[in-house]
Amino acid sequence: MATPLTADGFLVALHAEGVRVAEYGSWRTHTRTSSGRPWGPVHGVVIHHTVSSGTSSSVELCAEGYAGLPGPLCHGVIAKDGIVHLVGSGRTNHAGGGDPVVLQHVIDEDYSDRPPAPTKGNADGVDGNARFYGFECINLGDGKDPWPAAQLDAIERVSAALCRAHGWSAKSVIGHLEWSDDKSDPRGFTMPDMRARVARRLSGQSTPPKPAPRYTEDAVITYLPPIPANTDVDIPVEPAGTLADPQGGARNGPLWLCLAAQGADGQVVTTYHQEGGSWGAPAKAVSVTVAGSKHVMSLPAGEGVDKVRIRSTVPLVGYVTGRQVA
Ligand SMILES: [Zn+2]
Repeated sequence: MATPLTADGFLVALHAEGVRVAEYGSWRTHTRTSSGRPWGPVHGVVIHHTVSSGTSSSVELCAEGYAGLPGPLCHGVIAKDGIVHLVGSGRTNHAGGGDPVVLQHVIDEDYSDRPPAPTKGNADGVDGNARFYGFECINLGDGKDPWPAAQLDAIERVSAALCRAHGWSAKSVIGHLEWSDDKSDPRGFTMPDMRARVARRLSGQSTPPKPAPRYTEDAVITYLPPIPANTDVDIPVEPAGTLADPQGGARNGPLWLCLAAQGADGQVVTTYHQEGGSWGAPAKAVSVTVAGSKHVMSLPAGEGVDKVRIRSTVPLVGYVTGRQVA
């Protein structure tokens, strides 16, 4: 049990942990606390993802709320660059209803890897907004949107800051999915991993920064099976952003499909398929020759194309090359 920090106490605790902070509007007095809507005693921290992209719009949404759920929707919004935008103080609308069994385990800090799975949620649980600090992390929550090292570092730091200020262990930090049986956030890292990081930080060890990503140009990504003549062969193409780089970018720089004719000269027709959509019109046929160099096509992997159909009048061999995170 703990008395909540004041707004200034909260800010001091974050600064002391090395959190980079941006203050949004009159966050110190922007609150849902009122008679009948208590704040405190506090028992921990809940981590969320926003299911949104873009820092300014996400911060504004979390500050102002939306029809049916007035803001503030958390205390701080953790952007992809690791800056924590403070949007509210006191009670905020982030945790909703959750499982009282989980709450007791968080208070007692007596679980091992993770608390028991919640069996209550927003509709039938106990009030979490009175009990938890909340941080919304900007992420689409689709399991593909990357979690940059700077953002994970900020989650670790804000969590450790509040644990240190209140004398809690890392077990006082939970994910929304561990609190409510109808929630899935945060998605893309695990809370046991994050608690391990917070615990290391609280014990005086910090998590070593990840090395900056390197790119290998022209790496062969996939060797294709032999492509027979006069047959449609569909080649999956990685859609934009599916392989994250640790700094928050996505892989899809150029991808190239390299084809070589086998046995005879011929013609190749290419057709693109849009992700979740349909096949486009076939492109103009191009010539492939046995004597010539391989035919190199640039694949529009960043424009929603998820399949490329090859139809050739002669057998082909080929491979896909492109930029990869090393
Ligand atoms: Zn949430």
